[in-house]
Amino acid sequence: MVRVEQFLADQVAARGDAPALSDSTGVRWTYKNFDKASDDIAQALKDAGVQPNDRVLMLSENCAAAVATVFGTWKAGAVIIPVNARQSAGEIQRIIDHAAPAAVVLTCHASIDATVHAETLNAAEITGAFGTMHLATPIASNPDDELSDVAVLLYTTGTTGDPKGVMLTHDNVRFGGKASAKLRGINPGDVVYGVLPLTHVFGLCSVMTASCCAGAEIRLEARFSAGKLYTALTTGVNFLSAVPQMHALLMQYTKEQGLTQLNSETLRYVSSGAAPLDPTWKRKAEGFYGVAIQNGYGMTESTAGISATSNPLGSPDISVGPSLPGVETKIDDTVEGGSNGKGEVLTRGGHVMKGYYKNPTETAKVLSADGWLRTGDLGSFDEHGHLHILGRSKELIIHGGFNVYPPEVEAAINDHPQVIQAAVVGRSTGNDEEVLAFVQIAEGDTLDPQDLKAFVKERLTGYKRPSQFIIGTSLPAAPTGKILKHKLIETFKDQLA
Ligand code: ATP
Ligand code: MG
Repeated sequence: MVRVEQFLADQVAARGDAPALSDSTGVRWTYKNFDKASDDIAQALKDAGVQPNDRVLMLSENCAAAVATVFGTWKAGAVIIPVNARQSAGEIQRIIDHAAPAAVVLTCHASIDATVHAETLNAAEITGAFGTMHLATPIASNPDDELSDVAVLLYTTGTTGDPKGVMLTHDNVRFGGKASAKLRGINPGDVVYGVLPLTHVFGLCSVMTASCCAGAEIRLEARFSAGKLYTALTTGVNFLSAVPQMHALLMQYTKEQGLTQLNSETLRYVSSGAAPLDPTWKRKAEGFYGVAIQNGYGMTESTAGISATSNPLGSPDISVGPSLPGVETKIDDTVEGGSNGKGEVLTRGGHVMKGYYKNPTETAKVLSADGWLRTGDLGSFDEHGHLHILGRSKELIIHGGFNVYPPEVEAAINDHPQVIQAAVVGRSTGNDEEVLAFVQIAEGDTLDPQDLKAFVKERLTGYKRPSQFIIGTSLPAAPTGKILKHKLIETFKDQLA
């Protein structure tokens, strides 16, 4: 087994003085600086009693010290658990209880949450080439041999329920990093915008590890803001990877600012992933970027990438393309809601996780003995062998005996000029399910639900039309920007009939 930190050693040998990481706190590191910072973190962890196969939980927002902490943890032989500093204290405690980390590293001092966590965890200040951070040792060292080949424990977004701890091995992370770097054509010296949280598989494996494997520079951004993204795009960024909601928010910003086209000479590549790409957002965003958006499909359990494609600029095709090299994908149309080649997406290859940590029951539900991972997503292949994702099987709404796929209804609503984004879920009404739509509009804007109803009526047949439209200026979202659908009904319960 080759470990992931070898990527860094290779870059230090090949181009040690090339820029590697920069962040919004003003850090500018070459690969050599990055290497030294991670060495110092590895030493600090060892001094604190961390042993190989221990877990190290990192509370962070994107910054150079966070990337160095990931590599430092690997250098110490331990497993990293990246957790977003914006998670609540309760959510963090649940992960600590589940994973029993021998150390907690807090990398972000700017964040109020992190300061609070540092106090409650009784963390001590540590300094080194990485700068200043906090380190706590809530639980004594307790190495777990089951993790000897595991690089990272990544808790899923929790879109559909409680987050699960996905075990990704060193082989998984190297496979994912190389696949992403190759797919995107990242070269040494390229500048990659790093706004996707390192605490999510897309940011950790498709952005950070891929850039490091390719010898590129990552410009890290602690928190997404459309204005900062716009600035980055006009100051030398070559690669942008984002969740679809970020493209939608950027389009809202450009509309407000009266900006119509980017005209960037450096931007070569834009991708969207981690959630369905809406055809309206795709059209608007491509018009602005002047670059076709590559739609990538994947999940935490598959080290991000399963498949990806760039459909022609401006085309409404939101397929996720053919499988990545070395990845197999097939459809099981015998599942509920499946028929004639439409069914659950299954995938197999070097990207598939080892399993859910300390959860053999859930692991057995999704991983077969011969290596196939059940994604829980419904999809089908077109005549070109391109995969189309219809939506999650858990989120499929069965209304009046018909299948309603939320992304299709969301696309119809998103087409309305005042809508920033929509999220559609089903709610049981006893023996049927009703279709509910939650719609985000701009602060200070107003939109009559009746107008939206009439708008959608022209675009969707009867059984697909939402019975209620709840309009607000924000929707519950994960730190990536992905909408937390299971929180919608609870969040807006006072407005629902
Ligand atoms: P949880 O498993 O905790 O409910 P989650 O599934 O949202 O959370 P992630 O691993 O972040 O956690 O997301 C993976 C899921 O996102 C996929 O299973 C799929 O439903 C969706 N997804 C990812 N990329 C795309 C895409 N390009 N198009 C459509 N859906 C996508
Ligand atoms: Mg999932």
